[in-house]
Amino acid sequence: MIKDQQNRVHDYLRISLTERCNLRCFYCMPEEGVELAPKSHLMTYEEILAIATTFVEMGVKKIRLTGGEPLVRKEAHVIIEALGKLPIELGITTNGILVDRFVDSFKKAGLKAVNISLDTLDRDKFALVTKRDDFEKVRENIDLLLAEGFLVKINVVLMRAINFDEIIDFINITEHKNLQIQFIEFMPFDGNKWDWEKGISLAEIIEKANAHYQESNVLRIEDKPNDTAVNYKIKGYKGSFAVISTITNPFCSTCNRIRLTANGRIKNCLFSTGETDLLTPFRAGEDIQPIILKSIHSKAPERGGWESLEAFSKPENHGQNRSMILIGG
Ligand code: SAM
Ligand code: SF4
Repeated sequence: MIKDQQNRVHDYLRISLTERCNLRCFYCMPEEGVELAPKSHLMTYEEILAIATTFVEMGVKKIRLTGGEPLVRKEAHVIIEALGKLPIELGITTNGILVDRFVDSFKKAGLKAVNISLDTLDRDKFALVTKRDDFEKVRENIDLLLAEGFLVKINVVLMRAINFDEIIDFINITEHKNLQIQFIEFMPFDGNKWDWEKGISLAEIIEKANAHYQESNVLRIEDKPNDTAVNYKIKGYKGSFAVISTITNPFCSTCNRIRLTANGRIKNCLFSTGETDLLTPFRAGEDIQPIILKSIHSKAPERGGWESLEAFSKPENHGQNRSMILIGG
């Protein structure tokens, strides 16, 4: 088992398949772009499979593919289908644009849980956030996944100037569709001009829901073990909604996550400033298990060591972490 000093068992691995993306969401990808690692520094398909297998042998039970945009990776089909053969629960986080080309691969791999990022229900705002015009495609692909019986969550990064006025519209989707809306508090990463004034808190979201639906109809529902979200449902609605409140209500005490970047580095926390290179020792034929154990053992108890909102808010701290697009959210 992979455990840290707080005795937290780490059995959930998030693998970034690529640093590239077909969108340019401003909160994720800095305006000036990012420096991409040379191809030779990125994990090959075989390396991803071998390293993932090592993690599974060490007790990992769940793998989620992410990126950049995981589905722009050339061998994404092959990787998904190969990982599907491991004894794990496989999921993916995607912007949804290419999903229709992968439904068969998802099924072959036994991949059921698909998280799709969509920050607005307005086509023009979508273009403003992502700098691309793929709104219709994403909406169509969400409906396709639902029709095909996948477990769909919609990730919505909430920001005051963008989508504060759409909270209720998003929750209303859950009236007839069996999906979960996952609101995410805006988080700081290198180059994303983070300022908490721009973000929306868990408390504000619930206040808005209570005012619109009446408090007695906003039901707090059970969170799963290791859930990073606080879960709710509107009485009588088919779907549910949740809030990932990293800023105002961090969920670090039950964290079970390990991140593996596309260039083969472990990030033991989304906010850790240090990374552990696994790919170089792997290529040199070293046993990577002790390196994995050491990296997780050194994990900070909370938010990469930024335990207070004050430390978290310091702009000089944000530059010490990579941009989200390079980490894999
Ligand atoms: N391209 C895929 C997608 O957009 O779903 C996967 C990678 S993306 C980095 C993973 C998730 O991170 C997305 O849901 C995205 O909205 C979220 N994300 C990116 N930057 C963020 C930020 N600054 N604060 C909160 N969430 C962020
Ligand atoms: Fe691309 Fe996802 Fe980042 Fe948007 S959030 S730029 S879709 S990686």
